[in-house]
Amino acid sequence: MQSIKYKRIILKLSGEALAGVKDFGLDQDTIESIAEKVKELAAMGVEVAIVVGGGNFWRGRSGKGMDRTTADNMGMLATVINALALQDAMERINIATRVQTAIEMRQIAEPYIRRKAIRHLEKGRVVIFASGIGNPYFSTDTTAALRAAEIEAEVILLAKKVDGVYDCDPVENKNAKKYEVLSYIDVINKGLGVMDSTAASLCMDNKIPIIVFNLNNPDNIIKVIKGETIGTIVKE
Ligand code: UDP
Repeated sequence: MQSIKYKRIILKLSGEALAGVKDFGLDQDTIESIAEKVKELAAMGVEVAIVVGGGNFWRGRSGKGMDRTTADNMGMLATVINALALQDAMERINIATRVQTAIEMRQIAEPYIRRKAIRHLEKGRVVIFASGIGNPYFSTDTTAALRAAEIEAEVILLAKKVDGVYDCDPVENKNAKKYEVLSYIDVINKGLGVMDSTAASLCMDNKIPIIVFNLNNPDNIIKVIKGETIGTIVKE
């Protein structure tokens, strides 16, 4: 078995990460390449739990004029579509995968049960958490923080389209400075936008490190697990 820095992880995949080069929906090639990397992680002995976002279909805050709870419920349903797509891609390459959803829909996925999720991980199955935490007004980043605390994951890998956290938007500003290390409180006080303040404070309270890295190169996931310095680490 190869040397690994983290034994149990939460991999947070935003909806955007599953859309690849598209602005909307799912990109099958992208999903398949992520599945391949997850397979490598599992082969290295890493217990992988995934939290999926839904922004490639819908975000609660996009529902202008809509009742916020209804709009957020729609967003949570979007995460289920993504979870099933990911599960399908992983099972096609023989990764044992379970989807657990925080909103019960027993015909298509298991309900979220913490002890069962841990058992799946111990048996080498990949667990995908869908429907966020099951409540409106929260995000899937907060879900990643909560599930990480619950299942005692050692780290959250936050896969983004940029290669870390910058002091301003690197696409708009060529002089944007990338941080290698940041404290939780800096993320919150500077309003860095890498994750919402609820997610950042939950990680701070529970001392869960977050590594923000670029998923355009899926090999980065493996590098992070081996302990290479990639992207930005957010910690105490
Ligand atoms: N959402 C929610 N409660 C949760 C998680 C998500 O209501 O616990 C809704 C919310 O509307 C959010 C949408 O689901 O905008 C999609 O999640 P998110 O925006 O976090 O997805 P990502 O940006 O990671 O693709």
